[in-house]
Amino acid sequence: MAFSSSCKMKLTCVTSHVPEAILKPVLEDITREELEIFRSYTITSIDEKLLISHAYNAERGQYNGSIILGSVRSLLSSQIGKNEKVVVVLDRDLYVPGLNFIFGIAEFPGRFAIVSITRLRESFYGFQENIGILMERLKKEILHELGHTFGLDHCPNFCVMMFSNCIDEVDMKPPKYCKRCKAKIIKGCNP
Ligand SMILES: [Zn+2]
Ligand SMILES: [Zn+2]
Repeated sequence: MAFSSSCKMKLTCVTSHVPEAILKPVLEDITREELEIFRSYTITSIDEKLLISHAYNAERGQYNGSIILGSVRSLLSSQIGKNEKVVVVLDRDLYVPGLNFIFGIAEFPGRFAIVSITRLRESFYGFQENIGILMERLKKEILHELGHTFGLDHCPNFCVMMFSNCIDEVDMKPPKYCKRCKAKIIKGCNP
């Protein structure tokens, strides 16, 4: 896929507990194969407490994704550029009011996205942990949430922007945008 040379963005991945050994291959894949729009990526760490301390709901035993997104925005907005996307990868069970859980959440459109690996783990469903499966799912969810930051809605095609209600639906969707979604990302890139 060819892009105009002016259409280049920066991808920053922010985490506190998720190992680089998991994140690096996933981000390599994403920036090389699917979102070449990103010139490069960096991984930076953050003190997770800054993001989640006000988001915990003790009754649910989960963290409110909207509140975390707000914290991310207020903490990082001044530090990141106009042509930069930030994906925060956490290992916390997330929800938003009205939904039992979410795999991730993003500004629509915007610069900030959050993905949790908690429900992407095989161990969450009582199976033996499988890092390969975890990385494949994480790749899809990062692509999905970044898609929202580019203004993509859920997609009826066979596409990473398909809505997933459960882990089987994550596994069913491809780690790729359909032609229509990909074209929208390229069209929306105005550095
Ligand atoms: Zn979505
Ligand atoms: Zn699509």
